[in-house]
Formats: sequence, structure tokens, C-alpha cells
Amino acid sequence: MQKHLTRQQQLHLRKQLDEATCHELSLRIQQRLVAAECFCSAETLALYSPINNEVHTDNLLAIARSQGKKVCYPRVAGDGLQFVAIESLAELQPGAFGVAEPIGDQQLDAQMIDLLVVPGVAFDQDGFRLGYGKGFYDRELSRMAQSTVSVGLCYEFQLCDSLPIEEHDQQLDYVVTETQLIPCRKDTAG
Ligand code: ADP
Ligand code: MG
Repeated sequence: MQKHLTRQQQLHLRKQLDEATCHELSLRIQQRLVAAECFCSAETLALYSPINNEVHTDNLLAIARSQGKKVCYPRVAGDGLQFVAIESLAELQPGAFGVAEPIGDQQLDAQMIDLLVVPGVAFDQDGFRLGYGKGFYDRELSRMAQSTVSVGLCYEFQLCDSLPIEEHDQQLDYVVTETQLIPCRKDTAG
């Protein structure tokens, strides 16, 4: 119930963002991630297709591709996500929940993902997140390789002091906002 309220409040705030602000903040967030070691060293990345003013990822795709990295996007399959490699946004089409999904058949073993970029409704400094309430990323994160680095992207206003957390909620390694990159776990801090 508490999760439901926080989601509602945060989604309401995000809805107020105008297109120009969304674009500008998204650019700064992406630039911050591109400069981070975890992006530079990743050979295979998983991005997401933004909806409802989520932080954009198009610059990450363009830069990753220009650096020869492999980029995949998630597609809903049952209660899980399939990660499919793409070369351009033209290979995405509207899919589950109105999210653009890959249409190709270049399905990637999720264990091969070096950097998993995660959307969310709210985040805290410890890397916990609220999604839309379907638990897709919790399930995927719980079966990723130990070596996979997970990064949540959010606007500064989406950062909460603390979030209602349940047993199954998975922690991210980093959260990136327009003003900071937060290492969230003791083993990745410093
Ligand atoms: P979100 O993370 O999208 O905000 P929740 O954390 O509220 O959503 O999770 C929604 C539901 O997903 C949970 O009630 C739980 O049943 C299911 N879920 C999450 N992670 C797992 C998991 N690792 N295995 C099985 N079910 C899970
Ligand atoms: Mg969760």
C-alpha cells in the first residue's frame, strides 16, 4: 500500500516535466553515465525504452554504438524479459504496456550483459527502486551474473530518503541523476 502511494506521488511529479526539461535533464544524466568507468568498460549494455517522461536513453545508444559496444533492449516474455540486440531505434516497435520493444531475433544471454541500465519510478541512495509494480527488474536482477553492473537512471527529484522495501526488492549498484553518480553498495563504493 505504501509502495502504491509513493508510486502515485512520484508519477504525478514526473508527469509535470515539460518536454524541454525532460530532454535537457536526460542529456545530463546520460553524459554522466557515459563518463563513468562502468560505461567505458562495458562491452554489452542493456538499455530501456523510456515511457511517460522516464529518463531518455537515446544518447547512450548512439554513443555505445559509435564505440562498438553491443546494445540490447528488453522485450516482455511471460513474467520475464528477453534481451535482444539492436543497431538502431528503427528495430523497436510498440509492445507490452506501450513500451517500444525489439522486433528482432538476436536474443542475448542475459548473463552476457556487462551493464544493465534500469528505469524506475523512485530510487533511494542505497540503490533500491520502485518500478511500476510488476517486479520485472527485480526478477531479472536476481538472475543476472555477479559481474553485471546495474545502474538506475533518474531525475534528482525521484530520489527518496527511504523507500518501502520488500524481501524480493533488488539493490542496484549505482544511481545516476543530473547532478551525481551514487555508488550504492559497499562493494562498489570507492
Ligand atoms: P516493482 O519492483 O516493479 O516496483 P514490486 O517490487 O512491488 O514491483 O514487485 C511486484 C511483484 O513482483 C511482487 O509482489 C512479487 O510477487 C513479484 N516479484 C518480484 N521479484 C520477484 C522474484 N525474484 N521472484 C518472484 N516474484 C517476484
Ligand atoms: Mg520491486
